[in-house]
Formats: sequence, C-alpha cells, structure tokens
Amino acid sequence: MAIKSNIRLFLQNRLAPQAVFPLDEAQSHYLLHVMKLKNGDEFLVFNAEDGEFLAKIAEVNKKSLTICLKQQTRKPMSSPDIWLLFAPLKKDQTDFVIQKATELGCAKIIPVITKFTITDKTRIERFKAQAIEAAEQSRRLDVPLIEEAVPLTKILENWDKQRPLYFMDETGGTSAVFEAFLSAKQKNISSAAILVGPEGGFSAEEIALLRGLEFAHSVSLGKRILRAETAVAAALSCWQAIAGDWNTSDD
Ligand code: SAH
Repeated sequence: MAIKSNIRLFLQNRLAPQAVFPLDEAQSHYLLHVMKLKNGDEFLVFNAEDGEFLAKIAEVNKKSLTICLKQQTRKPMSSPDIWLLFAPLKKDQTDFVIQKATELGCAKIIPVITKFTITDKTRIERFKAQAIEAAEQSRRLDVPLIEEAVPLTKILENWDKQRPLYFMDETGGTSAVFEAFLSAKQKNISSAAILVGPEGGFSAEEIALLRGLEFAHSVSLGKRILRAETAVAAALSCWQAIAGDWNTSDD
C-alpha cells in the first residue's frame, strides 16, 4: 500500500468519511493504467462542496474500481469571486488561458465573441476537462465554472452593475492596473471581472461602448503590448496580489 498524495481527483460524488462508491471508467483507467495504482493504494479526492478526502482503493474490477473514503484532509474552500471574460484565441493559446486562469484562482470563465475574435469554435467540453485537470494539479478545491460563449454586446447588456468589469485596454487605459485594483480593494469590492480582448484587440466601437458603461473600467497593463494570453495571466495575477487571495498569509 502506498499514499500517492500527488494524485488528486475531482469527483462530483458527495464526499464523506466511510463513503464507498465506484469510479467511472475514465477515472478508473487513469488511476490503474496511467498512474499504476493498485488495490489498497491511497490518493486524494476533492470537490468544492465537501473539501478534500483521503481515498483508498477498496476493490479492483476489470474496467472499474471502487474506492472507500477515509478522513477529510482539507475543508471546503472557494476561490476569490473573480471572473475572466476572454475572446477565444488559437487552440494552444486558449488552452493556456484556461489552464492559467484556473491555476490563478479564477471563479468563472466566460468566452466572449468580439468583432476581431478569430475563432467561432469554442470547445466548451475541452475547456471544462482542462479546468478540472488544472484544478487537480494546482490543489484548488473548486473548479471554475465555464460558460457557453456569448457575444460581448449581449453580456454587457445583461451585466450585474454591482460587479465592476475591468477591461484590459492597450490603447491607453484610463488607470494603471495597480491603481484600479487597489481602489477596488479599498472599496471592499471582492466580486469583479476582468475582460481581455482578442489578438487583434477590441474594435474602436467596442472600446467606445465599454468606455461609456458605468460599471466598466479601462485598465492599462503598461506600455508594452502583451499577447492576449499574457494579458490574462498578468491581469489575474495583479488582481490576486492586490485585491484577491494573495494578500493574506493564511492557508
Ligand atoms: N491590437 C493590438 C494588440 C491586442 S493585444 C495590436 O496588435 O496592437 C490583445 C489584448 O490583450 C488586448 O485587447 C487587451 O485586452 C490586452 N492587452 C495587451 N497589452 C495590454 C496592455 N499593455 N494594457 C492593457 N491591455 C493589454
């Protein structure tokens, strides 16, 4: 028997001490044939509602295995309420965005279609699988929600005005990212969203539209033009450091 605590599996089952249940075929395959676990081996399972538990393989059948949960190892904890709105990019860059946004503790990811968005193929199921994998690896307890792609104009029409939307604007954002996020922190704003444009940037009309909205704030990430996926990682990192959960020393 061995404890493989580097293996963490996101499960939608209700988790509780002594719970016993079978895993589905894909999860069983991963544990048995990819990670080479055996009967009696232990690893971690988690979800946002119940937290993290030590799990033990109780029975191995041909295609599936049954696990038995032991003690809770971490209590449930959700990520800061920061959302990411991004214009889908080419496949590799979009993969990067989903993975990094998950690692950086984003609560919800919404693909938005803007005028210069180059792809109309949004592979939501692929995004969800990648978010689960990144959550497992980064020791998150929750997995970001991934919504269906929506046109930018539509999401702006239905926006909850209590949630500030910081749109990253390389055409001369009205505030530097530090000032914008510090001001949110000082106003005790913990629910917000970050919007990053496509490779070609926002159109002049989109910038004009965004600038005219009371809840939207134009933000600069400095003088250099960043690639969209870099802008996502930079903006989320700044949020976590200034107004999110990087500014506490607790666990
Ligand atoms: N069209 C531009 C580049 C767009 S960069 C050009 O080629 O000149 C893609 C997206 O990243 C932008 O829409 C913006 O949201 C973000 N971005 C990149 N650099 C930025 C910066 N310095 N400040 C704010 N946002 C930036």
